[in-house]
Amino acid sequence: MQRETTGILLRNGNPQGDPTTASRCGARTRLGVPCRAPAMANGRCRMHGGKSTGPRTPQGLEALQKAHLKHGRYSAQSIALRRYLRRLLANSHATLERL
Ligand SMILES: [Zn+2]
Repeated sequence: MQRETTGILLRNGNPQGDPTTASRCGARTRLGVPCRAPAMANGRCRMHGGKSTGPRTPQGLEALQKAHLKHGRYSAQSIALRRYLRRLLANSHATLERL
């Protein structure tokens, strides 16, 4: 069966063509045989390292952290602030006891 390639572009920058003819991933699977999933640009499939491996620039890392921050309650800064305030309160009580 011959598929005709049209001028229509696929979404998300995906390449055109027949996915069944794409090169294979080849990573060793838990069954001990090479992975047969279609490989991505770096030669591995989506499950074996083909997808993004994380931010590459400090700006990218910042954008990622910003996108995942919900309220900041457990950020290092907030934890340190609460710790400081608790110590301050405890010291105040101790001081008042001495008076
Ligand atoms: Zn694979």
